[in-house]
Amino acid sequence: MERYTRQMDLRKIGKRGQARLATARAVIIGCGGLGSVSAELLARAGIGHLRLVDDDRVEFANLVGQTLFDEEDARTGEHKVIAAWRRLRHINLDVAVEPVIARLNERNADSLVIGADLVLDGSDNDATRYLINAVCIRQSIPWVFAAVLENYGLIMNIVPGKTPCFVCTFGCPDQHAYRNKEKGALAATTHAVASLQVSQALRLLLRDGKTNQGLIYVDTWQPGVEIVPVKGPPTSCPACGRGEGCKALDPAPIRRLSLP
Ligand SMILES: [Zn+2]
Repeated sequence: MERYTRQMDLRKIGKRGQARLATARAVIIGCGGLGSVSAELLARAGIGHLRLVDDDRVEFANLVGQTLFDEEDARTGEHKVIAAWRRLRHINLDVAVEPVIARLNERNADSLVIGADLVLDGSDNDATRYLINAVCIRQSIPWVFAAVLENYGLIMNIVPGKTPCFVCTFGCPDQHAYRNKEKGALAATTHAVASLQVSQALRLLLRDGKTNQGLIYVDTWQPGVEIVPVKGPPTSCPACGRGEGCKALDPAPIRRLSLP
């Protein structure tokens, strides 16, 4: 436990929190810019079990921000989850890291998240997020949405039955036209967003107080953080049945995340 001394000194964690963390199981969907950073932070923090799901291979273009990977991984085209697993074993052997070479889809989603205490979104596209949302509602597992575009980021806790879900917040997939697939992201922004995502993940895993119901919007270039309140829509949400339905929230911060 010596390595966690400083962490256990934190009032929000303490010895009890550390012990709880040691039994926690998280699944990270996507092991790229966001997922690999979140995986490293959770492994260093002493989470018990970490399942990493991704079928991509390491490329040189990943080395700008994805600190779990190195030139050798890029040269050999190693699978990201295997390279991450190897590196994380050197960082913290206490953590059971389970690499899964797969892309989340309708067929494998349920089996990939079953038994998890928490799912972290490390993906780069909304189709995957709708799928994470659906499977987490089905299995009643909290998840933390995160997205980065250029120097902007979004983070939100989604706890089935307690907070608005991804569909409550952004609308149905066919109404969802205002955020493009994230192509370019400043590595520093990605790390900031992953840090916020892991902070929220720790809060959820340690059941620290009331769940934040807002959408966290961050800009790391012209620095600022806003919490955008998420309200229920007018008729019942087709995904979670909550609130008043499926109408996309469209606050200014989200519009700013759209590229021409
Ligand atoms: Zn919903």
